[in-house]
Amino acid sequence: MSLMEQLNRKALSLSVPLSVHLDVTYRCNERCQHCYLEHDGENELTTAEICGFLKQFAATGVFFLTISGGEPLLRRDCFEIIEFARELKFNVKLKTNALLIREQQARRLRETGVEQVQVSIYSHKPEVHDAITRLPGSLSRSLAGIRLMRAAGLKVTFANVLMKSNARDYPGVQALAAETGSHYTLDPTITPMLDGDSSVVAWRLPPEELRAVFRNQRLVGNVEDFCAPPPPIDDGIREGIPCSAGHTSCYISPWGDLYPCVQFPLPCGNLRQHSFSEIWAGSAQLGEVRSIRAKHLSTCSSCSHLGTCTRCPGLAFMEGNMRGPSSADCEKSFLRTGVVTAGMLAGHAVSPLAPPRSGLVQIQLPSSLGTLQSTSP
Ligand code: SF4
Ligand code: SF4
Repeated sequence: MSLMEQLNRKALSLSVPLSVHLDVTYRCNERCQHCYLEHDGENELTTAEICGFLKQFAATGVFFLTISGGEPLLRRDCFEIIEFARELKFNVKLKTNALLIREQQARRLRETGVEQVQVSIYSHKPEVHDAITRLPGSLSRSLAGIRLMRAAGLKVTFANVLMKSNARDYPGVQALAAETGSHYTLDPTITPMLDGDSSVVAWRLPPEELRAVFRNQRLVGNVEDFCAPPPPIDDGIREGIPCSAGHTSCYISPWGDLYPCVQFPLPCGNLRQHSFSEIWAGSAQLGEVRSIRAKHLSTCSSCSHLGTCTRCPGLAFMEGNMRGPSSADCEKSFLRTGVVTAGMLAGHAVSPLAPPRSGLVQIQLPSSLGTLQSTSP
């Protein structure tokens, strides 16, 4: 077992919040077409409030801290916050679009000891990237920022969110990451907005593109293993927890609201009203999230994919039931393996083209998947 797995197990057994994702602002200097945030900047946490909360996180055992947004560097005190977090010995990851990175900022991040910086790059083609960010010149500015951070000695990861408009551009983004000595990570998940508006889901990759991604050795490694039918379900899987959200990790909004995860908008308490440890230990909502084992899930508990599915309880929550299937993950499991899912049989599968329904992701069996149901085991 790796050191990280041991650490996670220990944190889980002791109910320690190992990782916190803190969005310091929702304001942004880009307007990405698929973004799940409203860019409201009213009444954000102050520097003193954030530093106070960081002390509380440290006292409760938090080790990994992701500072993100919005664009976190739009806050004038962002470096002050990062430096204070490093004084408290957090392992800090910064998510930024790098537009505001100049030589001085790159050097300062390096001197502060930020562990890694993640930058979203959508395409190697300026016209595609800039159309997604809705900011002309953004690709060249982000790449300039990345090169300065690399020159300063920072670890940089290209986060390549795949969607309809850049579906075929990942080889170019991978090449740019390699050329700058950066890591590369791909994410085909477009999530509904945090207020439940699912219109951005229309940007999701069409099924045939997602199927091609899952069969690309440069992206998934061993295709045969990656696309293998799910193994039999055992008691270990049935007793497992859905994911780390609310167990060893949580998310804090720019107003101090605590949620199990950035992708799980279940309000669990506010840090302006209660201390972090009070919410972590006493929130009824977190208690409910923690009580759920795989065997308790409706539909999923009888699914052959239960042990290998990337099912996200946050996406399931946004569809109306945190114990239910996440249709985006149903689709992924099916496109990856060709094995029909329990969720599909129960009628849960999202159509990337379906029109939004107020507050909920549209649930509908797309005809392109429906015709393949005869492959059911
Ligand atoms: S599976 Fe979903 S809720 Fe769980 S950690 Fe991942 S994104 Fe968050
Ligand atoms: S494939 Fe669908 S039904 Fe099966 S475990 Fe995943 S989300 Fe649940």
